[in-house]
Amino acid sequence: MADETVFTPDVEFVRSLKEAGAETMKKCYQCATCSVVCELSTEKSPFPRREMLMAQWGLKEELVKDPNIWLCHNCNDCTKYCPRGARPGDVLGVLRQTVIMENAFPKFMGRIGSDHNYLVFAFGLPIMLFLVILGAFGHLHIPDGPVVFDHFFPVHLIDPIFISAAIISLLFFTVSIKNFWDGMNVNPYRLMANGRVIPYLYETLKEMILHTKFDKCGANKDRTLAHRLVVFGFIGLFITTNVAVFNMYVLGWHTPYHIDDPHILKLFGSEALVGLYYAGFKLVGNLSALALLAGAIIIFTNRTKPKGFVSVSSPFDWVFAIVILLLAITGILAEFLRVVDIAALAYPVYFLHLVFVFFIIAYLPYSKLAHIVYRTTAITYAKLAKVE
Ligand code: SF4
Ligand code: SF4
Repeated sequence: MADETVFTPDVEFVRSLKEAGAETMKKCYQCATCSVVCELSTEKSPFPRREMLMAQWGLKEELVKDPNIWLCHNCNDCTKYCPRGARPGDVLGVLRQTVIMENAFPKFMGRIGSDHNYLVFAFGLPIMLFLVILGAFGHLHIPDGPVVFDHFFPVHLIDPIFISAAIISLLFFTVSIKNFWDGMNVNPYRLMANGRVIPYLYETLKEMILHTKFDKCGANKDRTLAHRLVVFGFIGLFITTNVAVFNMYVLGWHTPYHIDDPHILKLFGSEALVGLYYAGFKLVGNLSALALLAGAIIIFTNRTKPKGFVSVSSPFDWVFAIVILLLAITGILAEFLRVVDIAALAYPVYFLHLVFVFFIIAYLPYSKLAHIVYRTTAITYAKLAKVE
């Protein structure tokens, strides 16, 4: 007699999925159209039909260790052709959020960073922290004179806050991803023994950066461009932030930057070289901010324009899109207000910009951006387990 497999449905899990935006999953009658139309589904382990069934049955344990959830790139081709309007693409999006929350370390941070019901707390935390620090150091006012952000929120106060937040966030992210890796179906450490982890990881990263899988999307092609702009915007801003740190702590060049700073002139040898270095730094920073803004605007128009089928973004998706948009707007606006020297607006906008930057850094392991790392891990695992 064949071995029996006993599943334990988690009713509470089904309820939480519905609340998070997967209420249509109950409509699925398992016709498998979605798995057939999905360009990314594989013969060995087709999706998303099976995941729809597992979600309906509340099989939480099986779902959180299923790499297929991450092989999906949310193109919504399946949603377009689903005869029941079960919106499998959207359901898989909710499942990804659930996996992030399940693996989150510490759990309460996962909840704050990915549950929209805790949004007030998530934003309240940096706002209160900044206000207390500014107040304690006598900076809680609009400084006199031309706009210099360092006179309002000095770098020697900003750096300890943001560097600590980045280190803590990175540690929490590492533990969260380890939880995810440990929970995979087949013992992932046994699979790693075949020595293919590095080549597969390299292959996956290449696919991710070039967006080759996104290019297979049919129903929602604009998503690819938006995704590229947001990813490259963040990469550019990450580079410029690190160059700014390098300028300060290695070169000893402090803001506001002066091309004729004698110390920097001595280091570079000529004013022309200093000017070139500064222009390159500003160009990458400004282009990255514009890429982020353009990406966020495309995400918004893409989500709200008629597509010929119903697809509803979850609150989790909306929060991320809004934060990206506000991050880009406040960054560009603060720069503009500094240049035109409107102190009464420049400093408050800069303050808000720092709040959004903190939000992105502190909640990185639990946000939409964490998808990049979860997806890379899952695709590498799928290659190792040969289910891709
Ligand atoms: S989600 Fe839709 S297309 Fe997929 S199996 Fe269910 S009913 Fe069929
Ligand atoms: S959203 Fe796209 S990638 Fe994801 S399961 Fe549906 S068709 Fe496949």
